[in-house]
Amino acid sequence: MKPSVYNFVWSTDDPEKAIIFNSLTTALAEVKTSRIDLLNIPQFDYAFLPENERRFVDELQRGGFVVDDTADELRMVKFAYNSDKYDSSLARLVIAPTLACNFACSYCFERPDQSDKGQIGQGKQNVFMTDDIKQDLLNYIEKIVKTGKDIFVTWYGGEPLLAKEIIFDLSQSIIAITEKNKVEYSAGMVTNGYLLSEDPHTVQNLKKNNIKFIHVTLDGPREVHDSRRMLKGSKGPTFDRILEGIRLLKANGIETYIRVNIDRSNIDNVSRLLDVLKENDLSDVFIYLGQVIPYTAGCKSYESSCILTEEFSRTNQAFYKNLNLMGFEAGRESFYPRFARACDANRTNAFVLDPDGDMYKCWTEIGNKTASIGKIGDLTRQNEEKGNREIQWLSWEPFEYPDCVKCKMLPICMGGCTHQAMFINRGRPECKEWKYGLENYVRSKFSSLKDLRAASSKSC
Ligand code: SF4
Ligand code: SF4
Repeated sequence: MKPSVYNFVWSTDDPEKAIIFNSLTTALAEVKTSRIDLLNIPQFDYAFLPENERRFVDELQRGGFVVDDTADELRMVKFAYNSDKYDSSLARLVIAPTLACNFACSYCFERPDQSDKGQIGQGKQNVFMTDDIKQDLLNYIEKIVKTGKDIFVTWYGGEPLLAKEIIFDLSQSIIAITEKNKVEYSAGMVTNGYLLSEDPHTVQNLKKNNIKFIHVTLDGPREVHDSRRMLKGSKGPTFDRILEGIRLLKANGIETYIRVNIDRSNIDNVSRLLDVLKENDLSDVFIYLGQVIPYTAGCKSYESSCILTEEFSRTNQAFYKNLNLMGFEAGRESFYPRFARACDANRTNAFVLDPDGDMYKCWTEIGNKTASIGKIGDLTRQNEEKGNREIQWLSWEPFEYPDCVKCKMLPICMGGCTHQAMFINRGRPECKEWKYGLENYVRSKFSSLKDLRAASSKSC
């Protein structure tokens, strides 16, 4: 047998004990330091171990800390990554019925006002999805459900609720098609949240149309949020209306996620937002931080405000501690790594659709016609250039990068964001925050498990 190449060993306050973590299985254990030597030798013979050592090795093997001599763990990682990537049982569609938006956020990568070549806002784009494109989409769905695929839709924009009638109409048709073909349909939405409370029926209709979760963004307490996410034109405030919408979602039992996009201008104000949410009885809503990244040429002017992943990682660690201390539901469980599946941009049966029926692999490219991989209504006459573009996305994998192949974080990182690796970093992968904070995150999980164990032994 041999130790896994994905083991991490960290000391504890007790010199006789150590924490071990494996990034392939994400198992975590506490072991006596006197027994750690087994994880430092290249190979050992199980048959020659004394009985009590064998029991210990059996436990280690269960957590993936030791593996059989024949195991090639890199191949195991590749196999798990590719089986999931080529899973054909589910189609994941991101659908934008409009790219119009009622907000003018300072860091928006869609930036409808940009005049980049091929970018949205050139006057050639449909503002709302037309009936023809809606029918093309339904024809496509009708075709793929016949192969037994379940359908998962994320409604996106622009601001999708500006086109809520299109969403509800399409949802009814998709529900009918999937029910007829006995496949599953589920959906979520990414919205700025402003229109959720405009009409008392909107949230009920979301529920009726199988939209099970909603992501909204609040970038800090009122004055900070309103200085970054304001109404288009009037630059009016948006915070209070969004908060009202979140309360409505909660009252209607719709799973709600609040994203806080952070950069230099609001990084110090996040905890004040937590105070506001607490005052509004919203500490059970899931909340998480997002890193503002200059994805497109339209974001160049914003680049100097963005923070690097290392700084983001430090902020995120402090944020989770704070959530826990303040009694937020999202802070109850420690932020903990898991096996990183392929990004939707690299998967088959996954694409982003704009109101013109143009398809893309990545959310950041929506509306940029030069990045389109095809037309939803014209899939049989695929143009070669678009086909090659799709192949570029589908064939991307972290195993092409020597740094990733030898990296112990590979199973939980998988080369980070593909868009960054392909277009921003000129072919270099962008390490995810685990690289900077893994030990702290695992330690915090370890402490909470210990606390739990102490509490349960006290109550026995
Ligand atoms: S709400 Fe979204 S799409 Fe609209 S301006 Fe803000 S970031 Fe851009
Ligand atoms: S991107 Fe960085 S952290 Fe991630 S697997 Fe590659 S080298 Fe490791």
